[in-house]
Amino acid sequence: MGMLDIITIGDEVLREKAEKIASFGPEIRILADAMIESMRSERGIGLAGPQVGVLKKIFVVDLPEEQEPRIFLNPEIIETAQEQTYYEEGCLSIPGVYEDVLRPAWVRIQAQDINGKAFTLKAEGMLGRVVQHENDHLQGVLFVDRIPEEKRDKLLNIYNKKAKIKIKGKSKSKSNNRRIL
Ligand SMILES: [Zn+2]
Repeated sequence: MGMLDIITIGDEVLREKAEKIASFGPEIRILADAMIESMRSERGIGLAGPQVGVLKKIFVVDLPEEQEPRIFLNPEIIETAQEQTYYEEGCLSIPGVYEDVLRPAWVRIQAQDINGKAFTLKAEGMLGRVVQHENDHLQGVLFVDRIPEEKRDKLLNIYNKKAKIKIKGKSKSKSNNRRIL
């Protein structure tokens, strides 16, 4: 499958709901591997199916502090913390812009692994943040939907300007030390 193209905001596929994965054959493994490879090459720490045009309930997470990438199939958030925290988010589908997003401090998530085996995980800190961001992608929700309208307009204006320059100059600017979800 190799490297996958990452779809950017404006494409309707990012607004659709992903479907449940019913079979856990080699094609899911191949897809997950390709997603991990593509996420890493763009220096992202999370990537969801719709971002590569696949409307299936799958996302991958790769935190620098963890040895192995994580794969979540058919995830479902079953519990959320009362406490909410701000953290600056970015997204491979809205490259180059970042904003603080308020979300529950942790979530409990239920999902299946690559073999279809069910697991439950309390995701806190950075992991909790990425899991919530990626799970949103499976519902057609982007992080910009979760910030105040005024900030969103500003952010998308900046993004559109940057996107135009990028097409013109074909320059591919990598984010320095930021973590893109
Ligand atoms: Zn994203």
